[in-house]
Amino acid sequence: MKVLKFGGTSVGTPQRMKDVVKLITDGEQKIVVLSAMSGTTNMLYEISDYLHKKNPVGANENINQLEEKYFQHVDDLYTTEEYKKKATEFLQQEFDYIRSFTKGIFTMFEEKIIVGQGEILSTNMVALYMQEQGLNAALLPALEFMRTDKNGEPDLEYIREKLKLIMSEEEEHEIYITQGFICRNAYGEVENLQRGGSDYSASLIGAAIGASEIQIWTDIDGMHNNDPRIVDKTSPVGQLSFEEASELAYFGAKILHPTCIQPAKFAGIPVRLLNTMDPSAPGTIISNKTQRGTIKAVAAKDNITAINITSSRMLLAYGFLRKVFEIFESYKTSIDMVTTSEVGVSVSIDNTTNLSQILNELKKLGTVTVDVDMCIICVVGDLDWHNIGFESLATETMKEVPVRMISYGGSNHNISFLVAAADKKKALQSLSNHLFNA
Ligand code: ADP
Ligand code: ASP
Ligand code: MG
Repeated sequence: MKVLKFGGTSVGTPQRMKDVVKLITDGEQKIVVLSAMSGTTNMLYEISDYLHKKNPVGANENINQLEEKYFQHVDDLYTTEEYKKKATEFLQQEFDYIRSFTKGIFTMFEEKIIVGQGEILSTNMVALYMQEQGLNAALLPALEFMRTDKNGEPDLEYIREKLKLIMSEEEEHEIYITQGFICRNAYGEVENLQRGGSDYSASLIGAAIGASEIQIWTDIDGMHNNDPRIVDKTSPVGQLSFEEASELAYFGAKILHPTCIQPAKFAGIPVRLLNTMDPSAPGTIISNKTQRGTIKAVAAKDNITAINITSSRMLLAYGFLRKVFEIFESYKTSIDMVTTSEVGVSVSIDNTTNLSQILNELKKLGTVTVDVDMCIICVVGDLDWHNIGFESLATETMKEVPVRMISYGGSNHNISFLVAAADKKKALQSLSNHLFNA
């Protein structure tokens, strides 16, 4: 069985929803994971923000606006009076529910419930439409089987067992529709897999059922060799290894949620990136296979802070790096890049929640300097060190850009440069011109 995930733009209008339904009804049994209609989750976060700030008037204005938009979809999506009525009643009940949060206390618990309503809306609307069309589809509520453990990590064993049970209780259907993004935590409270997390839902479901393929349908024809939002002349990459795709997703290629490749990789399930607007385009296939010895693509990760610790005590000493890393570990802050010299170490982080405490601790070890507003430019491919010349090619391409750190050799798949955020576009464009469009 395949798992197909459709993103926000792919279900962004009633017409798009109809196109998706046409695409998925080919007689093959499948699980379809849907995101919220584009713009909805942002709006729900705005509503939550108002409620955190104790501004129910602002929240209600946004709720009314969103509600009006959804009611307009009813006539465009359904043809029969019966289904228009069913959809209207469903939307009414949903928006009453969302509105009920403007009255009581509002904590992170309520926020998690509100921001997940976009997926509840889109999946129910599509399922109703499929029912109206006489198609053999059923809704699988994600909150009944998607779950994280006590560490906030997906509980794949639970997901596998629960999904199997729910599907065995259901009568056989051609299409099972479920919500991306939302889940419950180990205590049964509503949670989510973070922004863009529907890709992760699809991959977890794929791994749980041992799918033959996981398809991520979006608004572009696969993973491009550079960020199409920033540089001109990008083109799709036909084939990527799991490792290459993971690096690209982690280092900023927005087409994939950073952690989405992991479950598929462990289960050995190929992931295909496809374009809903151009379904016959080949897209990108991510699997164990890749073209050897080539640079595939470039990505950039924003909001990076670089920290340098210099200490003469590091000279010829052992245990210094451990002390540095332990400080980051104790503040649950992960490090992306590391470079070392005889007397100093530089690291980069993207989570600055505990920065001041970390800096205070690091100052006990040596002189500390910080560079903010940085970004990591990551060149990804099959870059094993025996394939000579790639690091010099990448570095040569970056010669016009001031580089704060370089990292190569941590894996066979990336060369990373830390540059000022202000130089991001120049760096990406230069890499694009020299590596892919020369
Ligand atoms: P969805 O809503 O379907 O999940 P996203 O907006 O999350 O879609 O991801 C698709 C977008 O990712 C594309 O429209 C594109 O602008 C952006 N993107 C960034 N980097 C890349 C890349 N390297 N290849 C393809 N798309 C990319
Ligand atoms: N709707 C959620 C978001 O906007 C999840 C997703 O689209 O993947 O972040
Ligand atoms: Mg996405």
